[in-house]
Amino acid sequence: MALKALDIYKLLPKKNCKECGDPTCLTFAMKLAGGKADVEFCPYLSDEAKSLLGATTRPPIRLVKIGVGERSFGVGEEFVFYRHEKTFYHPPGIIFRLKDAQTAEEIIAVTKRVRDESLIRVGMELRFNGIAIENESGTPERFADAVAAIERTADLPLVLISKNPDALRAALVHCGTYRPLLHAATRANAKEMCALAKQHGCPLAIRSNGLDELAQLAKDCCAEGLQDLVLDLAPVTLGDFVTATTVIRQLAITRTAPELGYPIYLDATLTDQEDAAIALGIVKYASVIVLSPLSQASSKAALTLRQNVYTDPQKPIQMNPGLYRIGSPGKDAPVLLTVNFSLTFFTLEGYLESTRVPSFMLIVDTEGLSVLTAVAAGKLNETLVRDAIKKFDVENEVSHRKLIIPGYASPLSGRIEEATGWKVQVGPRDAADIGEYLHEEWK
Ligand code: SF4
Repeated sequence: MALKALDIYKLLPKKNCKECGDPTCLTFAMKLAGGKADVEFCPYLSDEAKSLLGATTRPPIRLVKIGVGERSFGVGEEFVFYRHEKTFYHPPGIIFRLKDAQTAEEIIAVTKRVRDESLIRVGMELRFNGIAIENESGTPERFADAVAAIERTADLPLVLISKNPDALRAALVHCGTYRPLLHAATRANAKEMCALAKQHGCPLAIRSNGLDELAQLAKDCCAEGLQDLVLDLAPVTLGDFVTATTVIRQLAITRTAPELGYPIYLDATLTDQEDAAIALGIVKYASVIVLSPLSQASSKAALTLRQNVYTDPQKPIQMNPGLYRIGSPGKDAPVLLTVNFSLTFFTLEGYLESTRVPSFMLIVDTEGLSVLTAVAAGKLNETLVRDAIKKFDVENEVSHRKLIIPGYASPLSGRIEEATGWKVQVGPRDAADIGEYLHEEWK
């Protein structure tokens, strides 16, 4: 059972010395309760208190890092069963699967795609995470050559798939210091795989299709000194996968089975429905999803779904307030006011770009609320607009004093005119109509 902040506080030294980085022992206790601090930050804790607190305050699902450098990513460290209870923190890595029996050209082409391809959506750059390479050839040399070709092409996190420790050993010559995920330890090879992972400081996937056996394997690997584990349930059908991940998540979050508190691995290519596996994996707790390279259309769908599931449901995605330029606006360009809800921003920006009318977008801070909600909640008001005009020096950017406000903000038009001295023009309610509006109404 997780301890509450006050229970944790009772076990702290109560020196309020700030050495843990928090102003008081109580704030440190609150962070520990939320899994946002480590007992090691307090130098005055007794060993007994450390072991008691460590077991109950560390995240119920371990954070495991794969890769090093700019493209490395962390998975796990989740705290809730349902996203709406709080949020999900670490999006699953989407990994394209290759085989060492493929030609070098094919391997390099997919590697370049993962290296270069990205989708910009609501101001965020969405990318795939890495390459999984399988030792299909069965020979360590060919496996090592394929890994070397990937390494020469891009610095990407890797998953090395082989049952043969010798093949992994040969591949690690090329990438051993880059924390690839080794796949996979089974009951048959666990000791050797653990030794290899420990030697290179790599995370290790452990594979079994029985939960009890998987839990025992995790315990055995921990006993060998390995902490960074990823669970592979070896699912044959997607139904099996979802049933098992749901059970594991529940057992891990409630700390009923801490030995299962690790991120989950899904190889979609081995299930009965690879196309559906990506979506179900994202929604149902997979942290590393390995699959065949996706088509362009499926890529967009997968990246968008992952972004949507892994945003904080209580915090709308927001833009920074400011004055944004569309094209190269001159002194006579229109100024369009809107809110900092990112979907509103990017929708309007897209339509403005298509009008080819150079213009300014004045974005005010409504805490990420949409226009309609911000007006109703009083978050969009004349004071905010007046202060934004001053703060972002709009008066010096344009020679006129006309402000186009969104149609849904029309009830504020009089008050904005009074507070700012600018003439307010009420624009359309729907951003899709902005082109027609500007061509007809902007003088
Ligand atoms: S370092 Fe320990 S004793 Fe000092 S404030 Fe933090 S929790 Fe309290």
